Amino acid sequence: MISTRYASFLFGIVIASLTWAFSLYLYSRLSRHDVAAAAATATGSNPTIASNYYNELDGRYDSGSRGLYKNSPQLLQRMQAIPIKRRQQQHDNSSSTIGQGLDEIGLVRNNEEHRRREEGYKNHAFNTFISDSLSLSRPVPDTRHKLCRDGKRYDLDKLPNASVIICFYNEHYATLLRSLHSIVERSPASLLHEIVLVNDYSDSSELHEQVAKFASEHFDGKIKYHKTEKREGLIRARMFGARKATGGVLVFLDSHIEVNRQWLEPLLERIAGEKTIVTMPVIDIINADTFQYTSSPLVRGGFNWGLHFKWDSLPVNTIAKDEDFVKPIRSPTMAGGLFAMDREYFFRLGEYDAGMDVWGGENLEISFRIWMCGGSLELIPCSRVGHVFRRRRPYGGLTEADTMLRNSLRVAYVWMDKYKDYFLKNVHKIDYGDITERQELRHRLQCKDFAWYLENVYPELALPDDDEKHLRSKWSKVDQKVMQPWHLRKRNYTDEYQVRLSNTTLCIQSEKDVKTRGAKLILAPCMRIKTQMWYESDRHELVLGQMLCLEGSEKMPRLGKCHEMGGTQEWKHVGSRSVPIYNLATGTCLGALGRRRNTQIIMDLCYKDDKSTITWDLVRSKLSYNKSR
Ligand code: UDP
Ligand code: MN
Repeated sequence: MISTRYASFLFGIVIASLTWAFSLYLYSRLSRHDVAAAAATATGSNPTIASNYYNELDGRYDSGSRGLYKNSPQLLQRMQAIPIKRRQQQHDNSSSTIGQGLDEIGLVRNNEEHRRREEGYKNHAFNTFISDSLSLSRPVPDTRHKLCRDGKRYDLDKLPNASVIICFYNEHYATLLRSLHSIVERSPASLLHEIVLVNDYSDSSELHEQVAKFASEHFDGKIKYHKTEKREGLIRARMFGARKATGGVLVFLDSHIEVNRQWLEPLLERIAGEKTIVTMPVIDIINADTFQYTSSPLVRGGFNWGLHFKWDSLPVNTIAKDEDFVKPIRSPTMAGGLFAMDREYFFRLGEYDAGMDVWGGENLEISFRIWMCGGSLELIPCSRVGHVFRRRRPYGGLTEADTMLRNSLRVAYVWMDKYKDYFLKNVHKIDYGDITERQELRHRLQCKDFAWYLENVYPELALPDDDEKHLRSKWSKVDQKVMQPWHLRKRNYTDEYQVRLSNTTLCIQSEKDVKTRGAKLILAPCMRIKTQMWYESDRHELVLGQMLCLEGSEKMPRLGKCHEMGGTQEWKHVGSRSVPIYNLATGTCLGALGRRRNTQIIMDLCYKDDKSTITWDLVRSKLSYNKSR
């Protein structure tokens, strides 16, 4: 493999200068037939990324429009037509041309690929087109603090073994397999007792057969595959899985994750010491648009009075010295998807609330229950698991009612005592079923009350009727500093230029000024004015006048607040004369609707026979950036 890569790399140099490597690469992967048919504008279902990093992290903030998943026979046919191995190989070989791996893997080359990409978004709300092309055992960056890497040793003999439980409903096949691969490949065999894989009655029988076959043929029977007899929803599907499991510790994971190095050992170590500790990994980000794996900051779980989970910064002084980066951090709540819990303790504490449907609310329910009934919930910074955060969930409901609201009402009435009124005030009441069993559980376990929880576990939470003095004192307890690396980080600029349409004197300019979010871009006569000066950052953002980031979206790019999440705001070009400028999230390139002033800048296919509206010159001022910074 290495030699093939090397050969094609040299070949690339012989044929053309590196400046052209990118376009050549596009060219070489193109089927002419498809190009002729290609439409001018490639579109991608690519909702604007939440401007707030913490919102983005919070996969649960938007229960918005849930598109109904329809199983697509065509999709499955195509999946089978191109075996995953071959697609990976195609990628492995071709990526060497410019040697950037992930960067161009999402490139949409023609209409057919565009359609595949769209369909993936529709069914799964992430870029399945990219996921299909990635290796099932790809490496991920080791995002742990250096003390986790160097300083920690685990005595495997002293750790309990684990049953990993993964439930899935209509999961994208390659993404599910990559989750399984990463777990088996990055967990000590002696600790990984089994993976209990629960198919929550997914629509597709092909998916069922494929997964069953995979489980029986791989990993020496480590994967125990089950299918429920009807759609249970995440919560009951997990209970189903837990009852099948026989390991010492249950580790719940989502079906679109990749675990990082030594992810399991630190989770188990805490539980080995004390069975009532429930542990969580740091949830790293797998970008839903690009599948890039990036590190998450240390934040802990909280909630607001709408009973939505949210991420909070850490209490003051949690991180004072280096060693604090490896110590467990107490967390008021869990995000839900990923945690480890002693098996017997899970059952003793009342599993989950079986009266909850589909998804939502269960994470707060189990969090409150753990703390109020004698346990504790800890974030383990040395354990890292990447998760595909998407902006909507592609589930059709079990019932028409909003299951999240129903589930939250159950949480409120069982666990929150008089504090439930803060929640109830703002929701319309619907039937939430019978909760007597859960109330009895609370009584039987002699759990403390919600006032105790607020005072001892989550004293920073603002109550709706707190006065200013109270609020100030609460805020002062939360470390604002930890936010800084992500929100106030100074951008490093590596380049500065105008973007001129090749063989014209027209440059890309903001239709408004450099401060107006949402502004479109147009062609205007090149002048060295602020609204034409693009600053390229070390994260490959294009920042106009050092203010707003160029953001790729479905049809046209716009200016947006820099979100530092890559993807829609990440642009690649190879060289600076007559080059396409490629957006990682959309898989398409910057284009112009025409070659006249005031024409609109759009997102276009990166390769077309007529390149006159998709190639650009980056025009640097003579003075700036001569020296490499
Ligand atoms: N899931 C399931 N049945 C359902 C809904 C979800 O088994 O009815 C699975 C889903 O495939 C995923 C996990 O539960 O592995 C968590 O759901 P999701 O990822 O949608 O939640 P999020 O990560 O967005 O909070
Ligand atoms: Mn998930």
